[in-house]
Amino acid sequence: MIELPDLRLDDASALLAHDGKNSELQRDESPTEYLQRVIDSLCELSLKDPLTGLGNRRHFHAALERQIETVARSGESVLLLMLDIDHFKSINDTHGHLAGDQVLRAIAHCLAGCVRPVDTVARYGGEEFAIILPNCRPLFGLALAERIRRTVAGLSVPVSPLLNLQATISIGGAYAPEWVRSTTELWIERADNQLYRAKSNGRNQACIDQPQELSVSAEEKGLLFSHLAVDNANPFESGPGNVTNRVNA
Ligand code: GH3
Ligand code: MG
Ligand code: MG
Repeated sequence: MIELPDLRLDDASALLAHDGKNSELQRDESPTEYLQRVIDSLCELSLKDPLTGLGNRRHFHAALERQIETVARSGESVLLLMLDIDHFKSINDTHGHLAGDQVLRAIAHCLAGCVRPVDTVARYGGEEFAIILPNCRPLFGLALAERIRRTVAGLSVPVSPLLNLQATISIGGAYAPEWVRSTTELWIERADNQLYRAKSNGRNQACIDQPQELSVSAEEKGLLFSHLAVDNANPFESGPGNVTNRVNA
């Protein structure tokens, strides 16, 4: 039996209250139910970015890991977009950090409104965001990223009664290699390379690494074949046909 008064839940309650959650024991709630609700709410809070309300980097990594499993199992097309606000430092420098925060919040809200409920939008850090789009056919990736870019560019953010600010974003995207068990790091790196391209080509644009059978990196091939090497000395002769055929070794 849980004796609630023996548990020191003051800090947890205060955190939840600050986030607008009901942190008091309810009349119809047993101590166990209350404790479970506090734990669930704290877990939820630990995955949330306090400034924008989006998922934080921890939430993003967990979602990306799950997508890697899905892709390896089903070959579904999943697109990862990394997005970075252009020249954001000059917004802070010119209009102040609080105005910068308002722009960050407005862009976060806009990004969340641009995607489907099944997609994951997260604040990756600073003025960078990430979006995971399951079931996104390669044909549509660039058009989708362009639509997001244009929507953000069209935003006008009121930061004071007399001032509205606008900002643009650059976007880099990469599809998870189908049927290959990749890593979050490699996938993020490929999207980041495209983001770097978008920045160096002049910003306010989207670049996508289109999935190609030949684009599987040496490291990813290693991950693919490592378990086959244990099963059989020559994976190229006895591995699953669809996998070896798709990857040009
Ligand atoms: P680029 O187009 O190359 O991305 O230029 P940039 O100015 O956006 O990039 P840079 O990395 O030089 O500056 C990012 C700025 O974002 C610097 C940092 O102070 C600001 N920043 C990061 N997190 C926050 C935040 O939570 N609030 C505010 N207001 N600013 C932030
Ligand atoms: Mg940045
Ligand atoms: Mg930036």
